[in-house]
Amino acid sequence: MSTTVTRFAPSPTGLLHLGNARTALFSWLHARAAGGRFIVRAEDTDAARSSEEFLTAQLEDLRWLGIDWDAGPGREDALGPYRQSQRGEVYAGLYETLERDGHLYPCYCSAVELDVSRRAQLAAGQPPRYAGTCRDLMPAQRAARAAEGRAPTLRFRVPGARRVTFEDGVRGPQSFEAADIGDFILRRADGSPAFFFCNAVDDALMGVTDVLRGEDHVANTPRQLLVLEALGLPQPRYAHLPLLLGADGAPLSKRQGAASVADMRSRGYLPEALVNYLLRLGHQGAPDAWIERADLPKHFALARVGHSPSRFDEQQLLHWQREAIKRLPAEAAVEWLGPSLPPGLSADDARRLAQLVQHNVIFPDDAAPWAQVVFGEPPALGEADLAVLEEAGTGFFAAALAAFEEVGADAGALARALKARTGRKGAALFMPLRLALTGCREGPEFGPLLATLAPDKIRARFAARAR
Ligand code: GLU
Ligand code: ZN
Repeated sequence: MSTTVTRFAPSPTGLLHLGNARTALFSWLHARAAGGRFIVRAEDTDAARSSEEFLTAQLEDLRWLGIDWDAGPGREDALGPYRQSQRGEVYAGLYETLERDGHLYPCYCSAVELDVSRRAQLAAGQPPRYAGTCRDLMPAQRAARAAEGRAPTLRFRVPGARRVTFEDGVRGPQSFEAADIGDFILRRADGSPAFFFCNAVDDALMGVTDVLRGEDHVANTPRQLLVLEALGLPQPRYAHLPLLLGADGAPLSKRQGAASVADMRSRGYLPEALVNYLLRLGHQGAPDAWIERADLPKHFALARVGHSPSRFDEQQLLHWQREAIKRLPAEAAVEWLGPSLPPGLSADDARRLAQLVQHNVIFPDDAAPWAQVVFGEPPALGEADLAVLEEAGTGFFAAALAAFEEVGADAGALARALKARTGRKGAALFMPLRLALTGCREGPEFGPLLATLAPDKIRARFAARAR
C-alpha cells in the first residue's frame, strides 16, 4: 500500500482555469501513478469572495476531466471536513497550542499604520515586511489597545537568524533566510484563518505527503514549514509547477482562447483532448501518441516536470481534440454533436450524420453546415466551382444520374459505371460529383456521404446539373 497522498486545494473564488486544471491533473496523476490517495480541499475561508456556486462548478469541471478524489467535498471521511470554512474547531485548538508555546502574538496595528510602515521601508530601500511593532508588547500595553476596541490579528513569531531549507520536487534545493521573513498573520482580525496557517496545517492533518502547486507559492513555503515545525506536525514534500503562460508570454487570458475549463467544455472541447494536452504541458517524456485515460498515470513522473514556464498553444490542443474526436464511440459522438444538430432530427438521422462528419469537425458547431447539406440544401457554388461543373458538362451528370439508377448508393460501383460511360476517373470524376452533391470541395469521405444522402436528394442534385 503506497503512502503517497496528494491534494488539490482550490479557492472557490472563480471558475477553474487551465493552469489550475493542470495542477489538479498533475497532483492526481502523481497519486495515481504511485497507487496513492488524492484528495480535494476547498479553501473557502475568504467568505466575501468564495461561493458555493464556484465550488460546485470547479468540482464539476474536475469530474468532467475525469479527476476523481478519494476524499473531499461530497466524499467526507474521518480526516475531514474538507472545506476550510467548516474546520473552525480544528483550528481553534491549534491556535491555542501556538499561543501557549509562544509562537503567536496579537497584533493591533491598523491597515493604515501597516501601510505607513511599508512605505517608509520602501523609501529606505528595504524590502517591506512587518516591522515587529506588537512583537514584545507588555500585557498592560495589549490591554490598553484592546480597550480602544482594536481587534487584533494573530501573528507568527518568526525565529530569527536561521535558514529554512527544503528540497523542491521540481526546482531542487531551496533556501531562505528566516530573518528576511517578517512575522506573518495566521489569524485575521475577524477570527478567520489565514492562508499560511490553514493551508499548511490541513495538509499535515489530512496526511498529505506531496504538495504540487503553482510556482507563485514558492515564497510561502518557508513560512508554512515554520508553522508546521512549531506545531510539531509532519511537513509534506513541496513541488512547485512552473507557470502556464499565454502564447504571447503574458499570463493566460480569455482573449487567447484559453479561458475557464467550463468555457472550453461549452465550446465543445473533449475532456480526453484536454488531459492529453495538459499531460504534455511542461512535462517531458510522454509518448507522442494518444494516451487512453486509464494509461495516463503510468506516463507521468514529477521528475520530468520542467523548470521553465509553459506557453498555451492552441494548435497543439486542437491536435489532441482531433485525436479525441476520432476515438469517440458512436453514441458519444451523437451526444457531443447534439446541441448543434437541427432540432427535430430523428435519432437515426442524428446517428447517421454524426458518423458521417465525425472526422471532419473539430467542434460541434462545425457539424451544422453538414446537417444543412445532408438534410437541407447545399450552399450555392462560387465561380471556380461552377467552372468545374461546366467542364464536366451536362452529359456527365446525365450519365451520373443513369449510373445511380443502375447501381444505387454504392460509391465504388457508381464510379465504375460512370467511368465506363464517360471515360473519367479520379478527381475528374469525383470532384464534380462532390460539388454537385455537397456544394463543397472537401468534406466527409465520398462513400459514406453517398450512403447517407437520401436517394431523392442525390437524384435531384444530379438532375439539376444535367440540364
Ligand atoms: N487555495 C490555494 C490556491 O488556489 C492553494 C495553494 C496550494 O495548492 O497550496 O492558490
Ligand atoms: Zn502590530
